[in-house]
Amino acid sequence: RFITFEGGEGAGKSTQVKLLAQALAERGRDVVLTREPGGSTGAEEIRKLLVSGEPGRWDGVTEALLHYAARRDHLTRTVWPALSSGSWVVSDRFADSTMAYQGYGHALGREPIERLHAVTVGEFAPDLTLILDLPPKAGVARANARRDGEDRYERMDVTFHERLRDGFLDIAAREPNRCVVIDASGSVEAVHAAIMAEIAARFPA
Ligand code: C5P
Repeated sequence: RFITFEGGEGAGKSTQVKLLAQALAERGRDVVLTREPGGSTGAEEIRKLLVSGEPGRWDGVTEALLHYAARRDHLTRTVWPALSSGSWVVSDRFADSTMAYQGYGHALGREPIERLHAVTVGEFAPDLTLILDLPPKAGVARANARRDGEDRYERMDVTFHERLRDGFLDIAAREPNRCVVIDASGSVEAVHAAIMAEIAARFPA
């Protein structure tokens, strides 16, 4: 099974991916926990190009190409081999982030991203995508409280975060079988419980 987490800044993805991976491992699954951009040696190198440097260093199309180059490496080196060997793969971000950030947030539109996706990923898709949803203001407050080195929040304005959130919700509405929107405004425990309920419903043991 391939399970992906999506959401804007401060939605709590990194905490929730770890809790889910732990819970699945406790249930006896082989679990590979990974992330995008990154998740393989080559993709982590490309991540450095994406998260460091000046804002606007890459134009939107170049940025999307770098994300898809990283994704292709991540799929071929990490995700597909792990799935072939029977592991469950849990990823902190996947392709919906490129659509939401570059397609909606940076306003490239859906079409160029869909075309890149077709070339790079093809028909392959997650079995389940958990979209952690939070009003931009709440996410911003959390991200600022964290202030990790890679956090690019300060370089983004609120309208960007609103487009981002609308993008994720639009993606979820287009693919309701794959995507579930999780209210991320509750406590860590409450959000984890909502995720586990969804997992139990989708993948009965
Ligand atoms: O998952 P995380 O929040 O750590 O993402 C790392 C950074 O990359 C974030 O600042 C996020 O805004 C950014 N990002 C992006 N475009 C993507 C995926 C992530 O700008 N497609």
